[in-house]
Amino acid sequence: MSILHATTGVDLDDTAVGYAYRDTAELRTAYLLFRLLRYGALVKVSNTLGATALRWGIPLKPLLQKTLGRLFLGGESLEESLPLLKRLHAHGVSTMLDYAVEASSETSHQEAALAEYKRMIAFAQKNPDLVSFVAIKLTALASPLLWEKLSAGEKLGPTLEKEHQLFHHRFSQLLEAAAQAQIPLMVDAEESWLQKAIDDTVESYMCRFNTDRVLLYTTIQMYRRDRLAYLKQLIARAQSYKLGIKLVRGAYVEKERKRAQERGYPDPIHPTKAGTDIAYDAALMECLEHIDRIGLCIATHNRASCMKAVQHAILHNWPPDHPHLSFSQLYGMADPLSFGLAKAGFRVAKYVPYGPIRQAFPYLSRRAEENSSLSDQSGRELRWIQEELQRRKELYRGKNRL
Ligand SMILES: Cc1cc2nc3c(=O)[nH]c(=O)nc-3n(C[C@H](O)[C@H](O)[C@H](O)COP(=O)(O)OP(=O)(O)OC[C@H]3O[C@@H](n4cnc5c(N)ncnc54)[C@H](O)[C@@H]3O)c2cc1C
Repeated sequence: MSILHATTGVDLDDTAVGYAYRDTAELRTAYLLFRLLRYGALVKVSNTLGATALRWGIPLKPLLQKTLGRLFLGGESLEESLPLLKRLHAHGVSTMLDYAVEASSETSHQEAALAEYKRMIAFAQKNPDLVSFVAIKLTALASPLLWEKLSAGEKLGPTLEKEHQLFHHRFSQLLEAAAQAQIPLMVDAEESWLQKAIDDTVESYMCRFNTDRVLLYTTIQMYRRDRLAYLKQLIARAQSYKLGIKLVRGAYVEKERKRAQERGYPDPIHPTKAGTDIAYDAALMECLEHIDRIGLCIATHNRASCMKAVQHAILHNWPPDHPHLSFSQLYGMADPLSFGLAKAGFRVAKYVPYGPIRQAFPYLSRRAEENSSLSDQSGRELRWIQEELQRRKELYRGKNRL
């Protein structure tokens, strides 16, 4: 038993709790896949080949469905994901639904994303115990070019100006639907060169829609060196409304560094992982200290950060299901954290992406890279799964001896 477990009573390493919703066959498949993902070079080559094959129309769907899709996707549609959501809920964990499509500049794709987001809200309203949040991407509702130009303070031409107006029309519709259904929306954070305009937009809508409850959440990426100062300013400005904040470390380290180097501007990301960790935990404390007016979603697989929040809640005598506090981990990752927190009474929503495999490929590639040899994540997942498989084997042997 770890000291933290002993002092808080919260166990975030209990694989029996973490994997109770998965049968042994599923766990064995997950184990094999995580082992394969450890070969970083293989992952990089497969991602490149996979993207090319899909572009050329080579049928990769069956292979993806049996591998990365099975590990990280809820299904290809909301209906297909329903059994998984019910299984998670049966073990005390709800869902943050995510339609796994990427940014698009095409109006037809943007309209399709809007329609799907509305369907997600209706689905969440119909299944309030299963779904706690709906995640959305503003780059799915308006083109990345629009967000880039707005972020750079550039004047928009007539086409982008029209798209900007259309975006506000779409986003307002979405928020009205979310308000009516009482389903909170979480806006994902994207690359830094798009983010300023996304931040400004979300802040202005929080000001309108978060007056009596937290309906809209922004996402803050703490790997960015400027984010702690930004968070403090955001809190200082939000006097007449509540803030919704999803705290993440950030998903685009390599892409951010590469662009900064190519274009000759300072790297916006903390130089080391330790720097990102310190910034994340400082932001976490800042939010926890203002929990009366911040709806906080602690979106991380980092055990130490989760434990800091747990200790703070215990120290301040908060009920674990404090209405402003929730945790979230991606589906397919860090199950012992999610289910351990849920078992201790905290609100946990698994981030479950769904969507056509082809469109979800970029999401699946990112998960594959995150779990490749470049990170500690696959090591952690493998250790947990191995431990659980071993535990089940011993249990089986013990029963047979009786
Ligand atoms: C529910 C949920 C929602 C998410 N939504 C978003 C989103 O909207 N936008 C987004 O960008 N990401 C999002 N992410 C992904 C997130 O940003 C991280 O990439 C991922 O969660 C891994 O970080 P961690 O805190 O879980 O764990 P850890 O494994 O402790 O940290 C890994 C992270 O540390 C940082 N890092 C690693 N190496 C270095 C280095 N050398 N220098 C500096 N920093 C480094 C990176 O941010 C890396 O992702 C989301 C994650 C979750 C769980």
